[in-house]
Amino acid sequence: MSRSVVAAMTAYTLELREAEVKLNQNESPFDVPRELKERALAIAAERPWNIYPEFESSALRTAIAKANGFAAENILAGNGSNELLAASIATFVGPGTPVVLPKPTFALYEKLVTIAGGSVIPIAIDPAIGVLPLDAMLAALKGLDDAVVIVCSPNNPTGGVLPAGGIDALLATGATVLFDRAYGDFARDSQPALHDRLVTLSTFSKAWGLAALRLGWLATTAATAREIRKVKLPYSLNIISESVAIAALENRAYRDHNVENAVAERARVWDAMRDIDGVTPFPTQANFILFDVREPKRVFEELCARGVLIREYANALRVSIGTPEENDRFLDALKEIA
Ligand code: PMP
Repeated sequence: MSRSVVAAMTAYTLELREAEVKLNQNESPFDVPRELKERALAIAAERPWNIYPEFESSALRTAIAKANGFAAENILAGNGSNELLAASIATFVGPGTPVVLPKPTFALYEKLVTIAGGSVIPIAIDPAIGVLPLDAMLAALKGLDDAVVIVCSPNNPTGGVLPAGGIDALLATGATVLFDRAYGDFARDSQPALHDRLVTLSTFSKAWGLAALRLGWLATTAATAREIRKVKLPYSLNIISESVAIAALENRAYRDHNVENAVAERARVWDAMRDIDGVTPFPTQANFILFDVREPKRVFEELCARGVLIREYANALRVSIGTPEENDRFLDALKEIA
């Protein structure tokens, strides 16, 4: 028998559908440059494949640290930021740990907290406001001992960000802060200063366009990194992904292009959506837009029938920003059916 918390859970799923225009997973719409793929494979080909990768991922951690103004001891690299999220939650959340969590947000947080036996304190997000409910989070943390707060900024799926000074205010409550910057590049935010109770998670899956390689990293103080490393699986990062990340960090121009496309197209798509009767896009600083329509289920299905796959939530829809042509396909279809 599985544990009762597991028996009560549902599996993380995504509806698999074929679509010409795939705007459902906030991926980069551009594949990485061919030269980058070849350079990464050449780096990997020089290394032996019959022995385990270097235990500490030192070369990659050093490259990430250098690109972000840290030291290698502040960085852990993993098989997607999901892996590091799991290790961070397992490090800080145990049976009964209070975990303040703005909702709706990335579903994996609550799942991992539940598996760890923590108790979620949900804080409702109003997506129309465009910023996360910092005051309500601070109020919920007041008087709690050994609490954890998980915050994603810009938040998936609502798109709003933590107000300026939010990280410092959350740290001042004494809580441990897990800060997910998966979409931070699209908000042109900056990496917060290190703190023993702050773990900042980043990914190569979005702005860097490397979702297929499964690469993520976290930044924290050396002392906290040592604790999380005790929990993280050894050898989770393979040498091909590692080589790709090292090559990507030497070639930031394509990533800047991805961000520029997302930021410019986000504004254009948002304005066009606002002008469609019955469609309400919510403010966003990410590479996606959450929006209300009168009949979300019907609109989702009719977009699918026109070859455009987006993401369906309980009462709203989320569209990722694609190439200009993909965005036009989405907007043309939405105008017809909303
Ligand atoms: N955090 C958030 C908020 C996400 O939306 C996602 C992916 N959808 C992830 C983390 C996972 O990133 P990775 O691909 O690095 O595991």
